[in-house]
Amino acid sequence: MAAYTGRFAPSPTGPLHLGSLVAGLASFLDARAAGGRWLLRIEDLDPPREQPGADDLIMRTLDAHGFEWDDAPLWQHSRLDAYSQALLTLRDAGHVYPCVCARKSFTGVYPGRCRGRTFAETPGPYAVRMRVPEGAAVFDDRFLGPQRMPWTDVGDFIVRRKDTLFAYQLAVVVDDAAAGVTHVIRGNDLLDSTPRQLALFDALREPAPTFGHCATVVHADGAKLSKQTGAAALDNRVAGASLLTALRCLGQDVRELSPDLSPRQLLTEATVRWDPGRVGFARHVSAGGAPVR
Ligand SMILES: [Zn+2]
Repeated sequence: MAAYTGRFAPSPTGPLHLGSLVAGLASFLDARAAGGRWLLRIEDLDPPREQPGADDLIMRTLDAHGFEWDDAPLWQHSRLDAYSQALLTLRDAGHVYPCVCARKSFTGVYPGRCRGRTFAETPGPYAVRMRVPEGAAVFDDRFLGPQRMPWTDVGDFIVRRKDTLFAYQLAVVVDDAAAGVTHVIRGNDLLDSTPRQLALFDALREPAPTFGHCATVVHADGAKLSKQTGAAALDNRVAGASLLTALRCLGQDVRELSPDLSPRQLLTEATVRWDPGRVGFARHVSAGGAPVR
């Protein structure tokens, strides 16, 4: 197995926008600069939020931007047996418990009300929650340096929803472990997920990958670029320009990169020049790549 395996894992909820390109590009360049593999996974676990055909659209957009992935893409809907198995493992080891609380019955961190419940004595429907350890999650972020997040700020989190859909956190960890992912490079809007995923790697006795969180791209009003905030879809006709903008958002020096290069050539040049030490220059960047706040 390669010493470095990275991945990009978009949800097929709509077309890719600049924010997703930045995260995908960071994971791609970090993997390729290390001579590593780069995998594509479609996170289609939440059908009501998905858009038919968005997975095809995402792959065509990635292709138009010069990305090449190793192996066949993985669709999470094909992995339900693996998630069930992982849930059983967690249950047998006493890491999870059933939770019957309504979402609106508490605000902020889940207070652990159902910690004493057992599966045998709890009629459904219920959500399944992971018991977090004491102390704090500690990890060394590839771009942001040492991180410490107290578990009391995280709280016991859901691994299977009351509607029986598997939670993002569980699916991601099971898939990353199965694919031998060594580096999870993504936007810092997912930084809060990292302690949860570390807890799951630990509970499933899988080695945790290295995590690296790059800047999130925000609109002029500070809101994160997303489908909900009306982020524009990437336009394949200006792929080179979008790649240069995304590189700026990652703190990279693009002065020697010509916009006349093809997307594939741009990625090759950007891989050679990849400087992970510059990625943590800002937590939030504007759609032009300038630091915000
Ligand atoms: Zn509860």
